[in-house]
Amino acid sequence: MPAIALLLTGFASAGSALVTARWDDAGVHVIDVVEGGGRLRPRGSATPPDPRWVSAPGGGIALRREGLGRWRVAWADAPSSSRPAAALGVPVLAPIPLHGTGPDDARLDLVILGDGYQEAELSRFSDDADAVLTALLSLEPWARHGNLLNVWRVDTASTASGISHAEFPTPLIRETAWSCSYGCQGVDRLICCDEAGMVEAVSAQIPAFDAILVLVNDPAYGGAGGFTYAAATNGVDGVDIAVHEVGHALVGLWDEYDYGLAGTGDLGPNCAADASSVPWASWEGEVGVGAFDGCSYDDLVRPTEEGCIMRTLDGDYCPVCRQEAMYAIFDKLPTLVGSTDPPIGTPIRDKGPTAVSLTPFDPALPWTIRWQVGDTVVGEGEQIDLACADVEGNLSATLTLVSEFVRDDPYGATWESVGAWPVDVGPCSGCGCSSGGSPWLGLLAVVGLGRRRR
Ligand SMILES: [Zn+2]
Repeated sequence: MPAIALLLTGFASAGSALVTARWDDAGVHVIDVVEGGGRLRPRGSATPPDPRWVSAPGGGIALRREGLGRWRVAWADAPSSSRPAAALGVPVLAPIPLHGTGPDDARLDLVILGDGYQEAELSRFSDDADAVLTALLSLEPWARHGNLLNVWRVDTASTASGISHAEFPTPLIRETAWSCSYGCQGVDRLICCDEAGMVEAVSAQIPAFDAILVLVNDPAYGGAGGFTYAAATNGVDGVDIAVHEVGHALVGLWDEYDYGLAGTGDLGPNCAADASSVPWASWEGEVGVGAFDGCSYDDLVRPTEEGCIMRTLDGDYCPVCRQEAMYAIFDKLPTLVGSTDPPIGTPIRDKGPTAVSLTPFDPALPWTIRWQVGDTVVGEGEQIDLACADVEGNLSATLTLVSEFVRDDPYGATWESVGAWPVDVGPCSGCGCSSGGSPWLGLLAVVGLGRRRR
C-alpha cells in the first residue's frame, strides 16, 4: 500500500507537524499543516488514491475508501532551498525488528511504540521494550512459538517527558508523539492514545501488523488494552501490565477480573455465560480449570480461580487463554504445509512414482499427518506409497500440530487438510491383490483377479 506522500518546505530545523487531509477515490487533499508554533500553508497534495486502514469497531483494522484524518509527520533534516524539499511519507516511522524473521503478513506482529520519551530518553525506551519482550517470551505459548512472532520497536521522540494527565484537578497536557493521556473516559488509570494516528502510521510501514503496544514513559500506574492497541506504564509493574494488555491486543482475550458491572458484554473467548456453556469444557478437570464467577462482567464465569495473567499480574496464562494465543499465532500462517512431493494435483498412477510425501512448514514441531482417499484413511506419517494399493479417488492429507496447549481447535488454526492428488492405482500384476477390504492386506487373495477398473 503506498503511503501518502507530502511535499513540505520551509522548515528551519528537524521537527514534526500535524497534517490534516481528506482522501477519496480522486486522491489525497491536504487541508491543514500545523507545526509547533503555528499553522503552515499546505504545499502539496498527493496521488495516487490511498485507501486508508483504520481501526474497526470491535477490533482489527478495516479499509476505508474515503475519510478525513490527522496525523503527525516528522522529518530529520531541514529542507532548504539549496536542497530539494524532502518528499515525506506519512508519517515517517522506522520500525526496528526486535524479534522474529517472517514476513508481516505471515506472522503475528506486535509493534511497540513509545510515548513521552524525549530524544535523550530513547535508550530507556529501548530497554523498556526489551524488558517487555523478555517477559512475553518467558510465557507459554510465546516461549515455545516465539519464532512465529514478530516484534518491532519504533523510536519516536516526544517533545515532553512523561504523558498527559487528564485526571489531575488541573489537567496536565504534555505534547507527546502519540498524545497518550491518563484519565481517559474518566478513569484515572486508563491510558488512551491517538489510536487513528498510530494505526495510520504503523500500517504505512507494517501493513499486516496485528497489535500496537504503547509504552508510556510515566511512573503513574496505568494501562489500557483494546483490540488494536494496548498501553502500559514503564513504572512499577509496568512489564506485567504490558504482558496482560498484549493479551487483549494480540490475542483478543478479555479481562478475567470483574469490573463490578452487571451484564455479559458480547462474550469473550475466555469468559462464558455460565458453567454449563463454557467453550473450554475440554479443559475442565485440568489443574484448576472450571467455571468461577466474574469475568469482566458479574454475570460471566472465568476458567480459573486465580491462575491467569488476565486476572492477576503475577500469573501465567490459564490453559484457555494459552490455547487462544495458539489460535492467534497459527492463524497467521498462510499454510501449515512446507512442501509436498509431488505437487498437489499431480496424478498418482501405476507407472509412478506412487509415493507422496508432505513436509510441514516447520518439521521441528511435532505433527500427525493422516492420509485419506475419499473418506477412507489410508496411512499416517510424512510419506505414503500407494504402489499396488488398488485404489481410486482423491488423496488428501490432514496435518495436525501435536501440542499440549491445544485441546480442540474449531478454527482450524493448528490443523489443515490439503489435496487433492487424483489417484488411480491398481494391484500389482500377479500379486493376487484383493479387490476388497484393505488393499495393503490383500496379498493372500486369489490370483488372477483383474483390476477393479480399466
Ligand atoms: Zn485466562
